[in-house]
Amino acid sequence: MSLVVMKFGGTSVEDPAAIGRTAAIVAGRIALGRQPVVVVSAMAKVTDQLLRAAAAASQGDRTGALAISSRLRARHRDTASVLVKNAAELASLIDFIDEKFDSLDEVLRGLAAILELTPRISDLIVSYGERTSSRIVASAFCELGINAAHVDSRDVIITDSQFQKAVPQPALIEKRATEKLLPLINQGQVPVMGGFIASNEAGITTTLGRGGSDFSGALLGGALTAESIEIWTDVDGIMTTDPRICPDALRVKTISFEEAAELAYFGAKVLHPATILPAVKKNIPVLVLNSRNPTCEGTRITSLAPPCKSPFKSIAVKKRLSIIDVVASRMLMTHGYLSEVFAIFDKYQCPVDMVSTSEVSISLTVDSNEKLSAISAELGQLADVKYEGRKALICMVGDDIRGKNGMAAQVFNAIRHINVRMISQGASEINMSFMIDEDDAEEAVRSLHAAFFQNPDPAIFDVEARKK
Ligand code: ASP
Ligand code: MG
Repeated sequence: MSLVVMKFGGTSVEDPAAIGRTAAIVAGRIALGRQPVVVVSAMAKVTDQLLRAAAAASQGDRTGALAISSRLRARHRDTASVLVKNAAELASLIDFIDEKFDSLDEVLRGLAAILELTPRISDLIVSYGERTSSRIVASAFCELGINAAHVDSRDVIITDSQFQKAVPQPALIEKRATEKLLPLINQGQVPVMGGFIASNEAGITTTLGRGGSDFSGALLGGALTAESIEIWTDVDGIMTTDPRICPDALRVKTISFEEAAELAYFGAKVLHPATILPAVKKNIPVLVLNSRNPTCEGTRITSLAPPCKSPFKSIAVKKRLSIIDVVASRMLMTHGYLSEVFAIFDKYQCPVDMVSTSEVSISLTVDSNEKLSAISAELGQLADVKYEGRKALICMVGDDIRGKNGMAAQVFNAIRHINVRMISQGASEINMSFMIDEDDAEEAVRSLHAAFFQNPDPAIFDVEARKK
């Protein structure tokens, strides 16, 4: 039995047509003799709307919160009614949906009275998205001839109690997967589960963090030692760069886990970085595939990068960053100074992307956000501080830059007409990153892409697409 965990994102279950395409993809795998385990996200945008309802309720806007919930209820009911024709099945599905939204409304009313949104309540509220989407998908699958069984992920994915970013407990997940999923699988059933949601050992609902459905898929793949994990999304796979910036961008056919992890951080929007870990540990390949273009081979992510004639696999860009320069002669020959600086970022829970230091100064980059002026004011007590917004980070990723001579020269030669504000290389052997002005970002990406992907290795990149 070759088991495949198939994860479908929000756009792959956003409406009846998308769910129909998803069912056809799963049926196609079954026809090939594979045993799928299906993980789905909430329907597109539902998680955001649930968070908005939670925010409204916690600010006392009970009516606004309940209005969001009622629109969501209608959307789920409508989707169910289009997909499920069997009267008895539809009735039980609608009952399920109503029951869930009744209890969501109760939580929202309570929240509007208490006016305090804790991470635990937030997790409970967002969980309704995946709880209902997975149930609808399971019924739709049955209607379309797939022997599907809905499983509540919270019975299988066990985490600690750090709400909103709970840490999975692999040994417990393996045990639960064996107990709850294997019997179904052995009977030829297709378990259908919600991603992202989980529970702690006491059964209290937790979540794995935004975008966490990929992570759920990988955890299940790991727990069941699947043959592969398929992440079905709405793009053809990992690209050599953002095609909106550079129409010449090519699909990357194969990439290593390590390279994909570097890119994931840039919100390449295809993968949650942590997805990679449970799969890497068990050497399970992850495929990124497009549910709107299912015959495209996508991107295969494997533990070792196959040899590639091009030094880089992909060029990522992240905008809306700021650089903070902290200059203090006090830093000279002392210790503990860096930790004082970082303690301030920690206090404001502000993640730092890139760091570069000299004897007397530190440059750091952060996402531009409202906390920056407060952070700068506090850093100002330690040193002279300057911050500049509208910066972009360009990150060149490739396994073949390890130990290659002249890579930096080639990269900076390609963008010699652009002013580089900050450089980082060495933190990872497979990426080279630098900061430039946001206004130069697109030009830099196009120049770099032209320099490094002129003659792409056909074993690694989909050059056929360019020929057409
Ligand atoms: N629905 C969740 C989110 O939007 C999880 C996911 O889709 O991966 O973050
Ligand atoms: Mg996602």
